Amino acid sequence: MRLVCTNCEYKFNTEKVPKICPYCGSSGTLEREKTADDFIKEAEYNERS
Ligand SMILES: [Zn+2]
Repeated sequence: MRLVCTNCEYKFNTEKVPKICPYCGSSGTLEREKTADDFIKEAEYNERS
């Protein structure tokens, strides 16, 4: 999966989510980066609901 740090914007690929950002060392700032597919799925979901 691809993660992005919301603190420093560092993006990287990983199998497991680390506890801290490998770049800036902040904890709890790592989120899955949204792909184009995720945006499409969300848009489809929002249209139905
Ligand atoms: Zn970071």
